[in-house]
Amino acid sequence: MSDISLSLAEIVGENYVSNEEEEAYFYARDPGLMPAHKPDYVIVPKTAEEIQKIVRLANKEKIPIVPIGAGMALTGLSIPLKGGIVIDMKRMNKIIQVNEKARYVIVEGGTSHGVLKAYLEKNYPRLRHSVPDSPATATIAANVMIHGQGRLTQQYGFNSDMVTGLEIVLPSGEICKIGSCSISPEWFSKGAPLPDLSGLFLGWFGATGIITKVAIKLYPGKKMRDVEIFITDKEGLVPDIIYEITHTEMVEDINIFAQPLPLIFKDNHHITIFITGDTDEELEFKRKMIWDALDGFIKSKDGGFMSVPPVMKPTLLDMPQKSVSRFADVKKGGGFEYSGPIILVERYPECSRKVMELGSKYDLAYSAMARIIGRGHCMMFGFAFTFNRADPDMMDRVRKALHEVSDYALSVGGVFWKATVDEQRLAIKRMDPNTRNLMHMIKNNLDPNGIMNPGNWEVT
Ligand SMILES: Cc1cc2nc3c(=O)[nH]c(=O)nc-3n(C[C@H](O)[C@H](O)[C@H](O)COP(=O)(O)OP(=O)(O)OC[C@H]3O[C@@H](n4cnc5c(N)ncnc54)[C@H](O)[C@@H]3O)c2cc1C
Repeated sequence: MSDISLSLAEIVGENYVSNEEEEAYFYARDPGLMPAHKPDYVIVPKTAEEIQKIVRLANKEKIPIVPIGAGMALTGLSIPLKGGIVIDMKRMNKIIQVNEKARYVIVEGGTSHGVLKAYLEKNYPRLRHSVPDSPATATIAANVMIHGQGRLTQQYGFNSDMVTGLEIVLPSGEICKIGSCSISPEWFSKGAPLPDLSGLFLGWFGATGIITKVAIKLYPGKKMRDVEIFITDKEGLVPDIIYEITHTEMVEDINIFAQPLPLIFKDNHHITIFITGDTDEELEFKRKMIWDALDGFIKSKDGGFMSVPPVMKPTLLDMPQKSVSRFADVKKGGGFEYSGPIILVERYPECSRKVMELGSKYDLAYSAMARIIGRGHCMMFGFAFTFNRADPDMMDRVRKALHEVSDYALSVGGVFWKATVDEQRLAIKRMDPNTRNLMHMIKNNLDPNGIMNPGNWEVT
C-alpha cells in the first residue's frame, strides 16, 4: 500500500479504503454520458471525525476529494475529474432525531431517501418528506446539495428550501454548524433570523464542504393520496391550465409528461395532479375545486380529464415513481440522461416543441417531463433521452441533443439544474461579473488549495 493508502486506512480501517482497479472502475463513472475518470482512492468513512481527518490529510497532500452519495445525479458531478479521493458517504446513514411536533428530522450525510421514507412510514405515519423520483438509494444530503425536487416541491419549493440545518466539514477540516443549531440545540431553521449561511454550501456540489448532518422539514402525511390526469393537445394552453390549478392551492404535486410512445400518449400533454386528504370528503372537495377550476377548458373542448384506470393508479402514486427508471431502459441498454433547466412555466410550449424537434433531428427516444415548483414560480423542464450504452453512435446523438438543450435553455431565460461542468462554465461566463467575483471570493477563501470536487464551480 502507498503512504496515502496507509494513512487513509489508519483513519477508517483497512476494509473501508481501496485503490483497487475494481473499485476505481465503478467510482470513475455515473449512469449518464460524461466521460469516466478514475479516482486514486475510494474511502467509506463512518463518522464526521473521520471525514475531518481525511480532509486534513488531503489538504496537506493537496489531493482532490469528491464526496458521493448514490452517484445518481447523472451529470458527472461525482466523477473525480482530477482523480484523488472519492468519499463514499453511504455508511453515514443514521436517522439522528425526529422532532414530531416541530416537524423536522436530522439525518447523517449519507442517509438515503428510501431509508427515511421507510422509517417515517413505520414510526411516524403522520409525517412525510419530499421524496424525489430518483432511485431510493439517492441521498438526502446530495439531493439538497444539487437543489433537487420531490413530491412536495409544488407546495414548498426546491427540496433545498426545506433544509432546516446543516453540519459541514469545511475544506480546512473544521466542523461548522449552519442555522439555529449553531446556537441552540434545536434544528428548526437553516438561516432566519440569522444570516443564512447555507448558500455557501447548497448548490456548490461539494466544492465548499461536506455535509455530515442535514435537517429537513417534514410535512403532514395524509392518509390518502389520489391522482387525476388532465389532457390537452394544445401545448400553448398548458401554462394557463397550471395557473388555474395552482390558484386552487389544493394540490400536492403537479407533473406534466409528453412522449411519442406508446401511441396513445402521442401529441398530448398529460398534466398529472396529485392530491392528498385524511378523508374521502377532503379528497372529494379538492377534486371538485380542481375540476371547477378547469371547467372552462373542458367546455371549450381544449382538454379533459382522463379516467385513470385503477390498475394504473399504484404506478402513478408510487414514491419514487418507478416509471421514470423504466423509461431509462426503453432502449434496453441502460442509458438515460436528462437536462432539466429551471425555467418559467410560460416557456412550456416552446420547450415541448424543442424536445420533439431534437428527438426527430437526432432520431432519439425522448420524453418531456416537467415538475411545477412552488405554485408555479417556475418549473423543471426535463429534456430526457434514453440510449443503449452498447451503441456509441446513439450515445453521441444524445450528447449532441443535450448540448443543444444547454444553449437553448439559456436562450429562453432558463438556469441549468445540476449543471454539467460545461454548463457550469457557460453559466459562469454569462453571470453578472460582480456575482462571479463574489463566488470566486467564497470559493477561494473556503478552499484555497482547490481540493474540493475540483472542476466544479471553478470560478476564476
Ligand atoms: C430515474 C431517475 C429519476 C430522477 N428523478 C429525480 C427527481 O424526481 N428529483 C430530483 O431531484 N432528482 C432526480 N434525479 C436525479 C438524482 O438522482 C437525484 O437528484 C439524487 O437525489 C441525487 O442524489 P445522489 O445521492 O445520487 O447524488 P450524487 O450523484 O452522489 O451527488 C450529487 C452531488 O452532490 C455531492 N455530494 C454528495 N454527497 C455530499 C455530501 N454529503 N456533502 C457534500 N456534497 C455531496 C456530489 O459530490 C455531487 O456533486 C433522478 C435520477 C434518476 C436516475
